Amino acid sequence: MKEYCSIQPIIPDTTTYLVLLIGCADLVSPTKGKTLIKEIQEKQLDSSEMIKSAMLTFYSKTCNQKKTTEILTDILSSNPSIMSYNCILASYARHGQGKKALNLFKSMVKNSVQPNGDTITIILNALSHSGMVEEAIKIYSTIETLKIIPSPSHKTVMVDVFARAGLFNEAEQLIGDSTEAILWRTLMAGCRKHNNIEIAEKIFEILTKIEPTDPSPYILLSNIYMFKGNNTKASEIRGLMVQQGIKKIPGIVYSEDKGTTYQFISGSSNYPLFTEVENKRKEIYQKIIGAGYVSDTRWVTNAQLISEEEKIDSLCRHAEKIAISHAFVLQPNRKKILLTSNLRVCNDCHNAIAYISKEMNVEIVVRDANRYHHFKNGKCSCNDYW
Ligand SMILES: [Zn+2]
Ligand SMILES: [Zn+2]
Repeated sequence: MKEYCSIQPIIPDTTTYLVLLIGCADLVSPTKGKTLIKEIQEKQLDSSEMIKSAMLTFYSKTCNQKKTTEILTDILSSNPSIMSYNCILASYARHGQGKKALNLFKSMVKNSVQPNGDTITIILNALSHSGMVEEAIKIYSTIETLKIIPSPSHKTVMVDVFARAGLFNEAEQLIGDSTEAILWRTLMAGCRKHNNIEIAEKIFEILTKIEPTDPSPYILLSNIYMFKGNNTKASEIRGLMVQQGIKKIPGIVYSEDKGTTYQFISGSSNYPLFTEVENKRKEIYQKIIGAGYVSDTRWVTNAQLISEEEKIDSLCRHAEKIAISHAFVLQPNRKKILLTSNLRVCNDCHNAIAYISKEMNVEIVVRDANRYHHFKNGKCSCNDYW
């Protein structure tokens, strides 16, 4: 769109910049976003509350903590609207800063700032990702006192709070006899996190009836069977999926370098600089293995792989590891890598990336389907709760 504006007689205004900036944030495109912000500042459009909030979202989504804090402080000092509060809370939620989100929420309520329905979804989400179950229950039970009409998204995120914490009975009670697929899917994701076969099998029956073409129950249940070492059952479920003509969603990771976006698909060798990347990956593996990393083959999801060697090799080909190796090929001395993944990062990649951050002295941020993981010096900001 930016390129389109430059060849057409269109002068971009606040709304244009707003849309473009949010696009750069969602596509995790820091280079293009920074250029836009420079233009916004040159045109002195950065005093608008909407633009400030969009800049906050951009910096938060591209993990520029310093700038995020600067803008956040500026917004909070100027009597912001609920829209800005929600952007700040969402930034905390995205980075697993549940306590900060809760403190801000409490101060809003104390200062008579009226939250809206989105505020509740966002705060519950922040608490869910930080494992703050008690606090989430408290807020969920006061929705109506806060003069907010309870919505389906509030219920979904509360199911997520329970499921993520392994409180399956509470989650099931809340869902009751609902036929809303999203509620059951959320609970199923919790089963995968805790590898709870019993409940996953039950939900599989429910979900495949409600949404027969959805691949997620097949994949999640088959992955749980694999984790428990039951290859036969895992193969059965995958076979059933093929029979129904349901396609698996591949793991895709995107990374940006100097304004160019690269795409990596798990298991595929179709990416630029294959040989160089493969050599770099081996070099990185040697380093992290030397530091104590061991491949956790319980996270292999392909039931056809039998030998330990094949399983380890398949873990090496997860898109996150390839994208990181590729980033080092492009810039060997880099200090930061930013990745976006369409699926939940697997535990083996999570562990490997923590080691890589320390051994290669690099900050790695992975935005997966659930949240942001900020790896630094061998540790992740999620404290292994995701
Ligand atoms: Zn992985
Ligand atoms: Zn993490």
